[in-house]
Amino acid sequence: MVAVSYPARAVVDLAAVRANVRSLAAHAPTAQVMAVVKADGYGHGLVPTATAALAGGATWLGAAQVDEVLALRRAGIADARILTWLYAPGAALREAVEADIDVSVSAPWALAELAAAARASGRTARAHLKVDTGLGRNGLTPGDLADVLPEVLRLRAEGAVEVVGLWSHFAFADEPEHPTVKLQAEVFAETLETVERAGVTLEVRHLANSAATLTTPAAHYDLVRPGIAVYGLSPVPQLGGPDDFGLVPAMTLEAELANVKRVPAGQGVSYAHQYETPQDTVLGLVPLGYADGIPRHASGTQERPGGPVRVGGRTLGVAGRVCMDQVVLDLGPGATEQAGDRVELFGTGRDGGPTAEDWARVAGTISYEIVTRVGARVPRVHVDSEVPA
Ligand SMILES: *Cc1c(COP(=O)(O)O)cnc(C)c1O
Repeated sequence: MVAVSYPARAVVDLAAVRANVRSLAAHAPTAQVMAVVKADGYGHGLVPTATAALAGGATWLGAAQVDEVLALRRAGIADARILTWLYAPGAALREAVEADIDVSVSAPWALAELAAAARASGRTARAHLKVDTGLGRNGLTPGDLADVLPEVLRLRAEGAVEVVGLWSHFAFADEPEHPTVKLQAEVFAETLETVERAGVTLEVRHLANSAATLTTPAAHYDLVRPGIAVYGLSPVPQLGGPDDFGLVPAMTLEAELANVKRVPAGQGVSYAHQYETPQDTVLGLVPLGYADGIPRHASGTQERPGGPVRVGGRTLGVAGRVCMDQVVLDLGPGATEQAGDRVELFGTGRDGGPTAEDWARVAGTISYEIVTRVGARVPRVHVDSEVPA
């Protein structure tokens, strides 16, 4: 559980995950919810967040990698439907089929490998055909789809593969007015017709990630696939923060100050002295650095404060370079902090403290990257704010 001597941790509130899934379900009343838990639950911990998402009403889980979904089953998650969608030839599809995993098919070779896996396991595999409606990433092209449809019917007759889903992914879901959103939705609707006309009976049609779940109801269909919003972060920060969508950020990244010391004016701080103390002051040392996921692009100078850190009641920007293991704060001449005092790099933002979105802005990235990059050595501590301690 809690590593006793690690002076920092990512505290994940599972009650927030449950509440976020309930909110997402309310935004998409016609659809089931697939909580996307790839990348270790966006850095929040795969199994605890998956379990919390199911408790919040998700009936499906999704993850990119086959190894990730197998880990969910190995952890004892038995009754949820689970989809995997990113693998290369030779992947452990037989294990996936035997673990009752739904498998996405994005290329003709993938359908052939899934059929072989099904035959080897003596089961019928469940497939979701992924179509590239315009993202230009993974998925079947219209030509691929025409090639695989006859094979889909043959494999169903054989009992090897049942196509249960058709799905796709948006390029600009976070800009709901972007013309490609409507265009991709139209291509998806046409593809649905083609597939159903060919004689495939679909159980689920799905198109919406977090942004589309919150902003594009026409894309909800039977199943929505939110990821970032499950963890309480806004997929569309230019349109609204977590509060505006009924979400609560689940992760708080906190640390204890590892050193506090007085230095004179003119002291260069951290590598390359990118920051220099403007007066006699007190420096505080935060034991988290870029190896822990603190972006080096969030380093600070006199002119441009680095990533925000809550200390006592105030929010300070990182002073100087972000190092591998640590960052420095200029606590100011009157600072009363001591080594061991708690600081918060990001959290719910509800008390006016910094958020993952604030760090994303300073580092020139998105909140997704801030939470997923929290380093493997940082302990994840799962709490439940609805259960009295
Ligand atoms: C990651 C992912 C999602 C979830 O996206 P969010 O923007 O985090 O909601 C949904 N679908 C696919 C195919 C994905 O890769």
